[in-house]
Amino acid sequence: MDKIRFATVWLAGCSGCHMSFLDLDEWLIDLAEKVDVVYSPVGSDIKEYPENVDVCFVEGGIANEDNLELILKVRERTKFLVSFGDCAVTANVPAMRNMIKGTDPVLRRCYLELGDTTPQLPKFPGIVPELLDKVRPVHEVIQVDMFLPGCPPSASRIQAALEPLLKGEKPVMEGREMLKFG
Ligand code: SF4
Repeated sequence: MDKIRFATVWLAGCSGCHMSFLDLDEWLIDLAEKVDVVYSPVGSDIKEYPENVDVCFVEGGIANEDNLELILKVRERTKFLVSFGDCAVTANVPAMRNMIKGTDPVLRRCYLELGDTTPQLPKFPGIVPELLDKVRPVHEVIQVDMFLPGCPPSASRIQAALEPLLKGEKPVMEGREMLKFG
């Protein structure tokens, strides 16, 4: 049987969801026998999101132009896309800046008013991506196939979601164990 082409993506999140993924510990060895990891910030250095990905877990909200460009490509190239963790599902912590309208007040507060020795705005076209006016959850920008909430989702919840996917089945996302936020 062909291995599943599996990817994970890190947008505007703290990487805690990926850390929880690593908490799968020895089950990762079982997983490695069933999937080809074709793109991930964990354990790979592949720069370009590939074509024909079967399953992708997306961590984080969409906060800047790089996030936006990547998620559009990910959607186009992925059969089953999982909104992975509360930042992807609701925009969560990164969206706290949405309470302050626009990006200028946030950037000025962080980098000028609270800057220490050389306060300056982080601008470098082509290197530092521009922030979007608002941080948005993934499903507001593209269609997602499944929501996997949690901040982060526990390793057991991740495993319970992955096991059916490995068999080509859609996980049943019901009950507190699978759906609780936070
Ligand atoms: S959902 Fe929680 S653990 Fe995951 S990226 Fe967001 S803040 Fe971090």
